[in-house]
Amino acid sequence: MAFSQKVTCDVCGIERGPSNHWILYIIAPAGNIIFSAWDASYRITGHLCGSGCAAKLLSQKIEEWRYNNSAVSGIAAGSAGA
Ligand SMILES: [Zn+2]
Repeated sequence: MAFSQKVTCDVCGIERGPSNHWILYIIAPAGNIIFSAWDASYRITGHLCGSGCAAKLLSQKIEEWRYNNSAVSGIAAGSAGA
């Protein structure tokens, strides 16, 4: 009964098996993402099945950062007028 909690990858949805090399992550309120090696004792909610899904999540976050930065720049440029 020590490890009965079902863990799934947040990107692809695969269920964690006993010999998988999984990764933990945290997304901070500011949108920063932090990856960590798997440790069952960590109280971290983000789970990834491996480097492939970690790369997908990181890529998605980078796109969000770019979008947010360009949105801010767009507002600033639009309000400047001509
Ligand atoms: Zn995955």
